[in-house]
Amino acid sequence: MSALDDLPPLRDVIRRHGLSAQKSLGQNFLLDLNLTGRIARASGALEGATVVEVGPGPGGLTRALLALGAGRVIAIERDPRCLEALAEISAYYPGRLEVISGDALKVDVRPLLGEGPARVVANLPYNVATLLLVGWLSTDPWPPWFSSLTLMFQKEVAERIVAAPGSKAYGRLAVLAGWRTTARIAFDVAPSAFVPPPKVTSSVVHLVPRAVPLPCALSTLEKVTEAAFGQRRKMLRQSLKSLGVDAGALLAAAQVEETARAEEIDVKGFVALSNALDALRASR
Ligand code: SAM
Repeated sequence: MSALDDLPPLRDVIRRHGLSAQKSLGQNFLLDLNLTGRIARASGALEGATVVEVGPGPGGLTRALLALGAGRVIAIERDPRCLEALAEISAYYPGRLEVISGDALKVDVRPLLGEGPARVVANLPYNVATLLLVGWLSTDPWPPWFSSLTLMFQKEVAERIVAAPGSKAYGRLAVLAGWRTTARIAFDVAPSAFVPPPKVTSSVVHLVPRAVPLPCALSTLEKVTEAAFGQRRKMLRQSLKSLGVDAGALLAAAQVEETARAEEIDVKGFVALSNALDALRASR
């Protein structure tokens, strides 16, 4: 039974196509279409939208996106066993679902998109979730090709994405996400919602790109946060020495306290440090 569409229940789809979950592919399927509907709705207005989904699997979230009005879903799936099940969904929604058989880490969807930004919505495979997110956050040019990212992560990773300075979870991921987006946890999902259940609670994170992030070179920001958080218990005057410049001069130029530690510095502070580093290097 499903309120969303007249397609067969996901349990039947999985049985009929022999889609036993494979750990190596991060397969934890969602079978409750009410829950996949909730995830789809968390992404914002879907009517007529183009959506990119990574890892549709048997199609629970894909069906919710289409039923809720997405004009077009481009879904990238690495497991060829899922293709037949997805073809049934394509047939039910003619011309609205394109399935790309491949690795989302390697596929560039940009040439497939039409006018206007797309939404990215996915129950991500946990083994590549952070890599995919960092790839999207590192997109150039910015603003990017997507208007939002609505993504399921392990709760611990979700907390690292939205972390504020001063908290234990605050690190490189939070600085990158906070620099380019506003990010929040939409809701948590219990392990029992998945088949098979993962060991930990999950969270759906919603990220919206900032139209104009503080001006800063991404590559420099990465170097600075790597140096700073690589030795997160040390004071910055010590940890930033690895950048090969006078750390004292760098901190003074960025107006950051020499005795501060990485986890006390907000995004603005890291941007100031990155720009000061580029200026110092240019003046040599
Ligand atoms: N969307 C489905 C759901 O919510 O039930 C499945 C989610 S499951 C957590 C992750 C899915 O991503 C699986 O279908 C898996 O085969 C697929 N996957 C794993 N690695 C992938 C990759 N590198 N590129 C594309 N899909 C991948």
